[in-house]
Amino acid sequence: MGKVLIIGAGGVGAVVVHKCAQVPEVFSEIMLASRTLSKCEKLKKEVKEIEKVDIQISQVDADNVPELVALIRKFKPNLVLNVALPYQDLHIMDACLETGVNYMDTANYEPIDVAKFEYSWQWAYQDRFRKKGIMAVLGCGFDPGVTNVFSAYAQKHLFDTIKYIDILDCNAGSHGKAFATNFNPEINIREITQVVRHWENGKWIETPPIIEPKSVHFTFDYPIAGPKESYMLYHEEMESLVKNIKGLKRIRFWMTFGESYLNHLRVLQDVGMTRIDEVDYNGCKVVPIKFLKALLPDPTSLAKGYTGKTVIGNIMTGSKDGKEKTVYIYNVCDHAECYREIRAQGISYTTGVPAMIGAMMMMTGVWKGTGVFNIEQLDPDKFMEKLNKHGLPWKVVDHKPLPDKI
Ligand code: NDP
Repeated sequence: MGKVLIIGAGGVGAVVVHKCAQVPEVFSEIMLASRTLSKCEKLKKEVKEIEKVDIQISQVDADNVPELVALIRKFKPNLVLNVALPYQDLHIMDACLETGVNYMDTANYEPIDVAKFEYSWQWAYQDRFRKKGIMAVLGCGFDPGVTNVFSAYAQKHLFDTIKYIDILDCNAGSHGKAFATNFNPEINIREITQVVRHWENGKWIETPPIIEPKSVHFTFDYPIAGPKESYMLYHEEMESLVKNIKGLKRIRFWMTFGESYLNHLRVLQDVGMTRIDEVDYNGCKVVPIKFLKALLPDPTSLAKGYTGKTVIGNIMTGSKDGKEKTVYIYNVCDHAECYREIRAQGISYTTGVPAMIGAMMMMTGVWKGTGVFNIEQLDPDKFMEKLNKHGLPWKVVDHKPLPDKI
């Protein structure tokens, strides 16, 4: 039993709040704090209606450390669960350090003025979190998050050594909009327009961004969803997995995109709408990607009427008892079922459920320690058990290895 402070009342925050409210034996008090109070008020009403649970709410600017510290001192949570934006990570970690409270998030820090996300900034908190005797768990959504847990589970139970990991993220859903992103548009577009990297034989190899003609892609036949074009993309969990999965020779990340989506993205990029720097418009400073975010559908608004499935998982090749083997561990999630349960769409759901489970692992002492952790450094067993129980069941099947060259 304990208190959780959830920061961020967006698509993912909404799922985390609902799912925490479903487990009152762990989360005895919930506070949701975010920049816009009306979004917290809406969720408070919804949680009362669906889960019959009263949550507390508060307005907070998570970039203002003294404001955060005051809120944490007042509410006295056992854990701060950050589902605001990556820009806030370091400020929230600073507030946790000052107040001696454990921390968790779902996305690594990214400076607002450079579209570059990596763990170095948060790993730099290692000694300070250790000295303070508190724990930070980084990247506890689906990818990163569950994909790290799948890797840890495979390392613990299925292999002596894992040589290759391919993470495949398929959204075979349909929301009926010409162009929309499934989580925060600004963060999403910054991520997918980057130069692509994968890791092979001890070094990072760069390939062109997904919208360029020479991008690397192939057709993968997903369970239930069927064949989908899957593009190589840089994704943050690879950075920690290459350090923590011993003996790994290669890791790649793939995500499905439709041709119409890529065409929209190409046009937006070509006309400068994805720029993250300020431009002058009639004496007014405008950041094009922020303006674009204001025009695009709010990802939470996609939930009603969203149909189809997400299929996300890892294909891993390695050896066990001297024999080479390949397994595929994956989850299939249905957008419409997520809406029926808690009025969410599948991408928010597949991120928010693991965040709640990770919080549960920390609050119940299954995951404990001092310092900064990526998920694969923690025991996967209870987490895997809870995925089955809380809406994200998984399967392990034998598979054929993916080709080396694509
Ligand atoms: P949204 O934009 O829907 O929600 C973000 C929320 O954070 C909003 O309520 C926003 O407030 C709030 N917020 C932003 N800045 C501040 C601030 N300074 N102080 C307080 N609150 C603030 O994003 P999503 O819910 O789609 O995504 C949330 C996080 O989840 C992101 O970091 C994203 O990268 C991550 N994510 C992780 C995934 C994974 O699998 N690991 C997958 C998908 C997302 P306001 O309402 O005022 O804008």
